[in-house]
Amino acid sequence: MIPQIDLGRQHAALRQDLLDAAARVLDSSRFVLGAEGRALESEVAALCGVRHGIGVGSGTDALRLALAALDIGPGDEVITPAFSFIASASTVLMAGATPVFADIDLDTYAIDPSRIERAFTPRTRAVIPVHLYGHPAAMDRIVALARARKVAVIEDAAQAIGGTYAGAPVGSWGDVACLSFYPTKNLGACGDGGMLVTTRDDLAERLRVLRDHGATERYRHVRLGWCSRLDEMQAAMLRVKLRRLPAWTEARRRIADRYRSSLAGLRLSLPVERAPARHVYHLFTVRSAQRDALAKTLGDLGVGTATHYPLPIPGQPLFERGGLRTDWPAAWQASREVLSLPCFPELTDVEIETVSRAVRQALS
Ligand SMILES: *Cc1c(COP(=O)(O)O)cnc(C)c1O
Repeated sequence: MIPQIDLGRQHAALRQDLLDAAARVLDSSRFVLGAEGRALESEVAALCGVRHGIGVGSGTDALRLALAALDIGPGDEVITPAFSFIASASTVLMAGATPVFADIDLDTYAIDPSRIERAFTPRTRAVIPVHLYGHPAAMDRIVALARARKVAVIEDAAQAIGGTYAGAPVGSWGDVACLSFYPTKNLGACGDGGMLVTTRDDLAERLRVLRDHGATERYRHVRLGWCSRLDEMQAAMLRVKLRRLPAWTEARRRIADRYRSSLAGLRLSLPVERAPARHVYHLFTVRSAQRDALAKTLGDLGVGTATHYPLPIPGQPLFERGGLRTDWPAAWQASREVLSLPCFPELTDVEIETVSRAVRQALS
């Protein structure tokens, strides 16, 4: 069986380094807001080309905190893609604001800038572009559209750490960007974790207060904050992994290249990398009109797959109004046709060949 993702291989290779990092934290007995977290914050901020990193409990909390730091709440609208992981929109609801869904571009799976343009109203306060599957959204156009209307840009970079757009890192384009360290992400913790990155000093300061009980100093609480901090254990282990991230990203890009040549010519839409975006292939997601049958046959042939995601966000039961399917045709088509093939840095050339042969057989 070739799994869609295998975290065991990564942890077997890093086992001693991770145990050493965990032991360092245990010996320090400093578990929250300490030296490891601060070091990781500056290392990740540097990678993203920004001044500040603010470690938090998860990528979802990062999005909630970004909305809170921008004072977005009831009566406000936030434009978010119709096709993404649920947190890109559920966090807008949590803030008391209204998500306004824009369709995606079916080639890159990122939010379509022309759809954003049509979704603006006088109530729009922010846009949340998602760099889905690791392909950066069209940030030059999105930032220009938002700036012209004095609307904030919150990048959901949960799937795209290390990616770039026009040479500038993902995370450096928006007012603030949100990263997730969920274990399966390109930089994954051994548990939950997330980070906000920003160059805006005002936002960084507010975010540090908001993640820590709204406190500016011990027992002085100036805002209604919450408790969401990246712990030292996760930070120490993430620092071990961060050193490998550039090599892992190269490995993912190489896997994508090999798949693209071995799967060429089939009745299958392969992922594209549209310049000037640099893709980090969090997922290698293909599209087939016979998606369910393809997944079933691949499973029978010993190839694991996954569906990211089987419903557009406005089609989720959470959003009961459902909306008109015709509003987001690309999102609905994607949800019917996408299938993620095995893609993780340790995947071997032999396995890529085996997967490709199975796909050929399934489609023949
Ligand atoms: C994973 C993910 C999140 C949420 O991150 P968590 O750390 O799981 O809370 C948000 N948006 C996208 C696009 C994601 O893939």
